[in-house]
Amino acid sequence: MATATLSPTLPDLQPDAPLAPLTTIRVGGSADWLCRAASFRDVVGALAWAREAGVPVAVVGRGSNLLVSDAGFRGLVLRLVGRLTTISVRGTDVWCGGGASLPRAVQRAAANGLEGLEWGASIPGTVGGAVAMNAGAHAGELAHDLRWAVICGPDGRRRVGVDDLALGYRRSSVAPGEVVAAAGFALRRGDPEVIAARLADFRARRRATQPQGVRTFGSVFTNPPGDSAGRLLEAAGCKGLARGGARFSPVHANFIEASPGCRAADVLALMSEGLRRVAGAGGPVLTPEVRYLDPVRGVIHAPVEAP
Ligand SMILES: Cc1cc2nc3c(=O)[nH]c(=O)nc-3n(C[C@H](O)[C@H](O)[C@H](O)COP(=O)(O)OP(=O)(O)OC[C@H]3O[C@@H](n4cnc5c(N)ncnc54)[C@H](O)[C@@H]3O)c2cc1C
Repeated sequence: MATATLSPTLPDLQPDAPLAPLTTIRVGGSADWLCRAASFRDVVGALAWAREAGVPVAVVGRGSNLLVSDAGFRGLVLRLVGRLTTISVRGTDVWCGGGASLPRAVQRAAANGLEGLEWGASIPGTVGGAVAMNAGAHAGELAHDLRWAVICGPDGRRRVGVDDLALGYRRSSVAPGEVVAAAGFALRRGDPEVIAARLADFRARRRATQPQGVRTFGSVFTNPPGDSAGRLLEAAGCKGLARGGARFSPVHANFIEASPGCRAADVLALMSEGLRRVAGAGGPVLTPEVRYLDPVRGVIHAPVEAP
């Protein structure tokens, strides 16, 4: 564990915190510190303390697109809790804390007869993580209906408009160590029956095409222009391929399933093999979608290369 002195003013700080349970694939080691922040003030205080102490910071939402290194993280992991997980609806506007569950926000919007967020019904992340990743599905994405976000850094918080976030395919301008602490959506009134039918359709499509009830972190690689990573991996013979406790899903090749005992090293080795096979079959060099929590460098793109 690092040796910086802990500030007594930091909120809810846990030393030597296991990170695997904070992710959907449930793999990886422990962080030196875990801070649960329930207000903008808590978030800014934690970031300021980390800067002062020279401790790297990583923000973890629901950990649904994150692979934690087997060695964990020599720094401070920040999670949003309490008020920063709440959702409120006023007219057609929806306010979400950065730690709010995206599927819950979708549900709340639908219950209020608001449409626009249905694409997120089966994306098991937080709203803050969805902003950072510009999550999307079924031809919808977060960028369409987001209006503003509150971004916290060690010097304070600022409210930015959607245009300032440079949202693109699974990317944003949110820098590592910055925290999306809240987000505001402007939705539209819709027919509740049509919204409910759309939600049911999207959920059914997921159940039919993606692995269910297993440990995954969503899409492994982004889709290259005009093609799908899943199709390329399948054509290169990756479906069902395993390395240690990790295997490409027999249901959808762009998902990796973890079995008990799986290590992050197994996942990275499998990803590298997938890259090698696709490139070897004449396809493009795929780009990892999943983020990786490196022990020293914090959150980076998963470090894989075709061997
Ligand atoms: C079964 C399954 C299906 C999925 N389907 C889809 C899909 O259809 N479309 C899609 O886009 N994604 C999908 N995902 C991936 C994932 O759910 C999304 O990328 C989601 O937006 C990640 O949110 P999170 O809170 O889990 O972020 P995490 O996985 O915790 O983190 C991901 C990145 O966001 C950063 N981050 C998280 N929270 C914050 C915050 N508050 N402030 C700043 N940075 C933050 C992290 O530092 C990291 O860089 C799927 C995942 C699973 C497991």
